[in-house]
Amino acid sequence: MTMKAAIYPGSFDPITNGHLDIIKRTEYFCDHLIVGVLINPSKSALFSVEERMDFIKDACKKMPHVSVVQYSGLVADFARERQISVIVRGIRGNGDLENEMTMARTNRQLYAQLDTVLLPANAAYEHVSASMVKEIAYFHGDVKEFVPARVAQALRRRFQ
Ligand code: ADP
Repeated sequence: MTMKAAIYPGSFDPITNGHLDIIKRTEYFCDHLIVGVLINPSKSALFSVEERMDFIKDACKKMPHVSVVQYSGLVADFARERQISVIVRGIRGNGDLENEMTMARTNRQLYAQLDTVLLPANAAYEHVSASMVKEIAYFHGDVKEFVPARVAQALRRRFQ
């Protein structure tokens, strides 16, 4: 069974190899994955929405089922407007699981046709987060194992 379209929402500030692994794995169960980059004025991001989208587009250029959009507001509204009924999220550990369960239930309450597919993080990426990557880069540590090459380069420049 294949599903039509799904949305993978997040901040992606910046995209990591953990996010990318989730994106790749959606190929087996959805025809079209929309990566939704959240414009969140109340959360200060390191990279602009445009930069974050460019990193994702570049990292996914060989994945034809993926497109990248920006959105603001509720993901449930975004999904309803486009008649998308699947949200994809990754879970790294118990903390993520608890938050994601709450969000999944809330989103389904906001839009009854909207369900969430939770993909367990691969062991290799379970510890990888955008905030950890930014902290390493801030102290001039090597982030090339954690993010695509272009992102590593941008982080080096940003914290020169
Ligand atoms: P948000 O700000 O919405 O948490 P993120 O960009 O931090 O957005 O993450 C987006 C999604 O990707 C979340 O579901 C998060 O749990 C998942 N995710 C983040 N890092 C990883 C990882 N290393 N492996 C698997 N999933 C991940």
